[in-house]
Amino acid sequence: MRATFMYGAGDVRIETIPDAVIHQSTDAVVRVTRSCVCGSDLHPYRGLPATPEGTTMGHEFVGIVEEAGSEVTTVRKGDFVIAPFAWSDGTCEFCREGLHTSCAHGGFWNDGNGTLGGQAEAVRVPQADGTLVKVPGITEDSASLPSLLTLSDVYGTGYHAAKRAKVTKGDTVAVIGDGAVGLLAVLSAKQLGAERIILMGRHKDRTDLGVEFGATDVVPERGEEGIAKVLELTGGLGARKVLEAVGHMPAYEQSVGIVRPGGIISRVGVPQYDQGPIGWSFFGKNTTLTGGPAPVRAYIEELLPGVLDGTVDPGKVFDRTVGLEEVPDGYKAMNDRTALKVLVRP
Ligand SMILES: [Zn+2]
Repeated sequence: MRATFMYGAGDVRIETIPDAVIHQSTDAVVRVTRSCVCGSDLHPYRGLPATPEGTTMGHEFVGIVEEAGSEVTTVRKGDFVIAPFAWSDGTCEFCREGLHTSCAHGGFWNDGNGTLGGQAEAVRVPQADGTLVKVPGITEDSASLPSLLTLSDVYGTGYHAAKRAKVTKGDTVAVIGDGAVGLLAVLSAKQLGAERIILMGRHKDRTDLGVEFGATDVVPERGEEGIAKVLELTGGLGARKVLEAVGHMPAYEQSVGIVRPGGIISRVGVPQYDQGPIGWSFFGKNTTLTGGPAPVRAYIEELLPGVLDGTVDPGKVFDRTVGLEEVPDGYKAMNDRTALKVLVRP
């Protein structure tokens, strides 16, 4: 089968490797019908040190179960399934609390221990019962595939940002970042009842989609200028809830600058920094800082009905589709900002 490998910054290649097979009785093998490139894949694309062996890529996919191990009970051959970006048993203490990314027997795709990536023709899925969500009635050409795929990561991650920030009816929310996660954080905040949603982003085609998803204000300015603008829009108070969907220090500093005293900063952008402002600018406002890798598995059942009945269309974040052989072009397009999010059709 073919799979995507990254050998270093900017070096993405499609390789032929042995077919995915069952290793353990709790595994399933899923034939990938749609996958995609994530904004977080751009971090290694820009900075991964070169290695001769490379690493497989991709952590978002939906597909059809090809084979289920003897102990798997919830899915069988032929089922359409959604795979979250982390695999989990669904039964341990953390999974029962809805924190599947901390699962005692879970892990992440492309872990270097034999769990490969989703930008491939097929994937071996550990802990299939806990990890995979079967969706009846979906075929490999269903029109809802792009929206269903967002439940693997970006929609669930945007929703997690809003949930951790306790977004509620009437809230004023600021979302930092106009990537797919930021835009779906806007959609999520809207679904949770936010009244005012300020989207900070400077790519007009993206912020236009953000407005379609529910943003009431768009702030293209950054840094001090951006902070001043949000304060002006909120009568000098700041935003009660700040959803940070970038992961770079300037975005975090912006969060600290625009959060209202007593407010919450919820981060879902993977931090590309180890230190940041925790002194008076943060402490002085009684700020709560939360967020982390989204346990998207916890949200799939909750978000699925809206996707299936068409109430929401999170799949609109995909603006380009490529085949597996063109995945390297997909990375380049996202890195060059000529594509918002690239759908992969193996
Ligand atoms: Zn678990």
